[in-house]
Formats: sequence, structure tokens, C-alpha cells
Amino acid sequence: SFHKSKGQHILKNPLLVDSIVQKAGIKSTDVVLEIGPGTGNLTKKLLEAGKTVVAVEVDPRMVLELQRRFQGTPFSSRLKVIQGDVLKTDLPYFDICVANIPYQISSPLTFKLLNHQPAFRCAIIMFQREFAMRLVAQPGDKLYCRLTVNTQLLARVFHLIKVGRNNFRPPPKVDSSVVRIEPRKPRIEVEQKEWDGFLRICFNRKNKTLGSIFRQKSVISLLEKNYKTLQALNLVQGSLESKAAEIDFSRLGDSNEDETMEMDEDGEDDEMDVEDSDAGGETSEFKAKVLTVLKEGDFEEKRSSKLTLQEFLYLLSLFNKAGIHFS
Ligand code: SAM
Repeated sequence: SFHKSKGQHILKNPLLVDSIVQKAGIKSTDVVLEIGPGTGNLTKKLLEAGKTVVAVEVDPRMVLELQRRFQGTPFSSRLKVIQGDVLKTDLPYFDICVANIPYQISSPLTFKLLNHQPAFRCAIIMFQREFAMRLVAQPGDKLYCRLTVNTQLLARVFHLIKVGRNNFRPPPKVDSSVVRIEPRKPRIEVEQKEWDGFLRICFNRKNKTLGSIFRQKSVISLLEKNYKTLQALNLVQGSLESKAAEIDFSRLGDSNEDETMEMDEDGEDDEMDVEDSDAGGETSEFKAKVLTVLKEGDFEEKRSSKLTLQEFLYLLSLFNKAGIHFS
């Protein structure tokens, strides 16, 4: 008897199991991470192909069944079973990940793997068909979405095999697909909160033009709030720095007046900026600033549903250069 909540659908088609293992390109020196080994149909082939297999399985009955299956065989010394929820488990080093997982953990698992360091070589994962198609979508495809861009920021993703529901016992309600995920090396570095906040706004209405998204009152006021917070922070930091500088100078007993004065002036300038922007009409002024950035990059008439990863990265850099932040 299988637990529906744990997504226990066992792969019954041995040809499919073979083809998944073959597409993984496992070397005899590889440490393989398997997630959700279940009764071990895939595990056996992974043990044949790799050096060791680390299998993370949440269901204690499955863990027992798995251990029994390989007990007293030459495989048992090369298999390590970790009982636990993969999302709450510290993952060990691995070269390759192979997983036929319950679909409700698709998204958190994908990002957990992609944030794992050092980065693995590739992951071969069975997903619900629609989720898989979102991962591999290209700009302009119907399923191109925030998940797509977030995943492709960290990895290249390829569709490998379409898998009908009847390859499983019991059959799930949806069809599946096997994909290959290769982490980008080197990583594309972004400020995580900044990137996330930016994409949420861009995909908030993915078929509208960026011009109309960034004209929305809620968006402008959020960005303006961030802008002011940052200005205030810079002001505080600036005055702290000039105080620290004063202290240093007095300790040296050799205060350089020109320099001290310059810093004081800077401090005053900043204060006046804040006063200025407290005056009326600042929102439309800020809105103009945002729209200038969109125009500068020729983004006003474009839509998120058709923007490439590189275009998103470029637009965010333009905003940041103008002091506009999303976190
Ligand atoms: N790999 C086997 C196969 O292909 O026949 C079983 C796949 S079955 C779809 C999913 C397996 O993942 C089940 O054995 C289930 O108990 C396990 N599982 C479910 N949630 C899990 C979690 N959060 N962490 C680790 N394993 C989990």
C-alpha cells in the first residue's frame, strides 16, 4: 500500500529505468545522490553505474525495504541510505543527482539542489510534464514564467523523455517528463533579494508591457519607498563615516582642515537632498526617473513573457545604476 501524500508512484517500466540511468551519463567514479528511492528500482541501476549512491528517503518502511533488498549483496557497502525529508536534510557532496520525486516538492527541491555547493555535474529529474515544460520554456513560449527565468539563471535545462502516466504503479493523474539540469559554471552572480523582487514585479503581469507595469501606483510607491530608505541609510552612514574621520584626525593631532570641511559639506548636501524630495510632486518625479531607465534600455514596450535572461539582467543593472532597488 502506497502513501498518496508522499507521491509514491513506482516506476514499473524497466526500459524507462534503463534509459534514465543511461541519459545520466554516470561515471564509475561518481557519487550519485538519489532522492526518493522507494523500493529501489532505479537505485540498483545507479549502484551498477556509479561508485557510491546516497539515497534520501522519507518513508521508514521504504528505507527498510531498500536495505533488505541490497543486504548481503556487493552493493550494500556502496549504498548509504539517509532517512528523512530531503528538504530538511543537509545534502552531502555528489556528482550527479537522479530523482523520481513526489511532484509537490518540485520547486523547493530544484532550488535546494541549485544552491548546493560545490555544484554538481547534472541532475536527471522526473517532473510533472507541465512543471518540466516551464523549466525548459524559452522567451515567447506560453509557459515561460518567473520559475523559468529563476531556474535558467542558475542552470541550463533540457527536456529528455516524455513519460506517460501508465509507466507508474499506481498511475498518477498527470503525465511526466524527465529533464536534465546542468548548473551554470561559473554562476551568474546576482543579489538574491534584489533579483527576486525585480522578477516578481516584472512577472506580476507578464503579458503587459513593462511600461505599464512600471507605471502602476503600487509599483512606483514600493520602489520610491526603497529609494528613500536607501538614501536615508546612505545619509546615516555618510555622517557616521565623517564622524569617524573626525575622531581619527583628532587622535593624530594633525587635523587636515580641508579634508574635514569637504566631508562636512558632503553631509550637508545629503541632508538637503532629503528635504528637497520631501517637497510635493516627488512621486511623479520618481516615476519619471523609473520611466527614463525603461526608455534608456528600450524596454518600455517590451513584455516579460518575451524577455531573455540577459535582458532581465541588463534591465536590473540599469535600475540599480540609477539607484532604484527592489529590496
Ligand atoms: N524512485 C522510485 C521509483 O522510481 O520507482 C520511487 C519514486 S516515488 C514517485 C517517490 C518516492 O519519494 C517515494 O518513495 C516517497 O516515499 C519518497 N518521498 C516523498 N517525499 C519525500 C521527501 N520529502 N524526501 C525524501 N523522499 C521522499
